[in-house]
Amino acid sequence: ADATALLLSRVRDVPDHPEPGVVFKDITPLLADPAAFTALTDALAEISLRHGATKIVGLEARGFILGAPAAVRAGLGFIPVRKAGKLPGATLSQSYDLEYGTAEIEVHAEDLTAADRVMVIDDVLATGGTAEASLRLIRRAGAEVAGVAVLMEIGFLGGRARLEPALDGAPLEAL
Ligand code: IMP
Repeated sequence: ADATALLLSRVRDVPDHPEPGVVFKDITPLLADPAAFTALTDALAEISLRHGATKIVGLEARGFILGAPAAVRAGLGFIPVRKAGKLPGATLSQSYDLEYGTAEIEVHAEDLTAADRVMVIDDVLATGGTAEASLRLIRRAGAEVAGVAVLMEIGFLGGRARLEPALDGAPLEAL
């Protein structure tokens, strides 16, 4: 409970970003505080190991900042899931619906195999669209889903419900 209070105290609400009416959860104060960043890294590593992950997937871009140190801490490999067009090698792609339009994410095909059990890490679960697409990528690569771990879940956007079918019983952990 103390660790959670520390983490929450280091997240800043930014009204009307990136557009009017949206309250953006800004984690940069948390990243700048070594005690908070370490507590978050340790918690994400612990969750990943507790659920038997063999690899950590981070979602661009803040999922890289949180997932990479968690992977090092847990002694697991780190796999970036990127926005379309960034990865140089052969990729698997998954598109998904946004409020207006569509988006596409990719992973290097060779980074995930049937031997892997993958924990997906990001900062914020909003509508769940990005995380859901990442779970599809992981399953299409033949790998198993260990779960999804985020710092924060924005409850009223319904991301947890949207994610449920793709999780197929795997946990969604929101710190
Ligand atoms: P979703 O696909 O709607 O769940 O949006 C999640 C993605 O958007 C994540 O990669 C988040 O980093 C980002 N995101 C959405 N809302 C926020 C926010 O308030 N703060 C930080 N990131 C956010």
